[in-house]
Amino acid sequence: MISDDQRALVKALPKVDLHRHLEGSIRLSTLVEVARKHHIPLPSYDVETLRPNVQMTANDPRNLDRFLGKFSLLRNFYRSPDIVRRITREVVEDAAADRVRYLELRFTPYALASRMHFPMADTVGWVADAAREAAAECGIQVGLIVSINRHEPLEVALEAMQAALRHRERGVLGLDLAGREAGFPARPFGPVFLSARREGLGITIHAGEWQGPENVRDAIENLYTDRIGHGVRVVEDSQTVALARERGTIFEVCPTSNVQTGAVRELAHHPILDLSYLNLGYTINTDDPAISNIELSDEYLLVMDVFGFTPGMLRQAILRAASASFLPPGDRAALVESLRMEMDALGVLEDGFPATESGL
Ligand SMILES: [Zn+2]
Repeated sequence: MISDDQRALVKALPKVDLHRHLEGSIRLSTLVEVARKHHIPLPSYDVETLRPNVQMTANDPRNLDRFLGKFSLLRNFYRSPDIVRRITREVVEDAAADRVRYLELRFTPYALASRMHFPMADTVGWVADAAREAAAECGIQVGLIVSINRHEPLEVALEAMQAALRHRERGVLGLDLAGREAGFPARPFGPVFLSARREGLGITIHAGEWQGPENVRDAIENLYTDRIGHGVRVVEDSQTVALARERGTIFEVCPTSNVQTGAVRELAHHPILDLSYLNLGYTINTDDPAISNIELSDEYLLVMDVFGFTPGMLRQAILRAASASFLPPGDRAALVESLRMEMDALGVLEDGFPATESGL
């Protein structure tokens, strides 16, 4: 059980989220307001009645189709630059309210562009401008990651990557491969990610979530990835574990999402402690706060409650996430240092977790 003191401490912690999708973070109240204004048909214009259509509920079966189904309604919403700017601003505000100090926000230009046939590069510019303004207002740092779906055509990926490169000076730091793992191999996207890497973008690949550890290996060997989105199934194969450890691959774990998508059967079976025992670098993230009805504090509390994480272990995960951010090295070092100082001031010190030091 979590005490009130623990809850207050977690709330106060300066946080880092490396894996949060813009499209999965939209306030329900905003959806209703935008739908009314633009005459977008909705199953209901009441937030509570709408909720099960766009958010995982206790009654939803835990599987990929149900989870992804919650996004299907959303592609109708991106009708104007102002809507894209507004949802971006609100996502940054919500993160700041949860004391996220550094948010690496990913978004899918094709999703934002397709309904109105906007050029993808324009949508990247709208997100970049709104994120920069909101970040300055809220006292939070935001880096952007352009996301590509593996179940969408290669030409889309190429256009999105080029749009990302054109906005490097405006906050785009990385490229992500998301979408359906089953039936859509990552390999064809190798050249796109190689180009992005050569141009200096950070790479993160969703893998080992709905398919096995072979996809984690593929992402490391053929997509030049720095980080893996989820990757929870890596623990099934010792050779892939060894490869990830040798390369220093960082895993972006999202506990609630991993249960809701069926990537792990129940939270108690989540391999987050295995990742720790195996000396793999993991971070704790939200994925889709609005779809899952969570904030990052909830995920920290969850691992405290279910796996006995101490504040010191959270500190390690937070500093590890800052160190694995796609920020330029100087900015990254400054972020790590400021988080360290803030946690020192809160009395959250490194109390360690012996297994991570002792190896296998
Ligand atoms: Zn994701």
